[in-house]
Amino acid sequence: MPENAENGATAADCLFCKIVAGEIPSNLVYEGERVIAFRDINPQAPMHVLVVPRAHAPNLAATAAADPGLVGELATVAAEVAGEEGYSDYNVVANTGSEAGQTIFHTHLHVLGGRKLTSLTNLPG
Ligand code: AMP
Ligand code: ZN
Repeated sequence: MPENAENGATAADCLFCKIVAGEIPSNLVYEGERVIAFRDINPQAPMHVLVVPRAHAPNLAATAAADPGLVGELATVAAEVAGEEGYSDYNVVANTGSEAGQTIFHTHLHVLGGRKLTSLTNLPG
């Protein structure tokens, strides 16, 4: 449960909740019942898509705690989107906590393709 302000973001003031609700535009590449995916506004690789559960949770672990199956759906959508974009090989990143570069406290997977992540210092975030 929330331990500090950054983890206490409510759906009402959450950017990705607003994208899920269609209140803020995004470049959608996948729309499912429980998961959407859209292009990152500041791409760090030739393919940089964010895979996002519709249900608000502050990070991947919180989503896993609330609904383990939903984490599986995120992974499946990441693979589907990458495949549709022409990438059989890709990276998945889930920044967790501000010290790890997380800036949006609504669970999301970064799905990156077309750029070799040769070190842990050039990950997005
Ligand atoms: P993180 O730093 O892991 O929390 O990732 C947040 C990501 O959201 C960053 O890569 C941002 O570029 C991206 N981002 C922020 N605002 C938007 C937006 N309106 N549409 C798409 N991506 C966004
Ligand atoms: Zn949210």
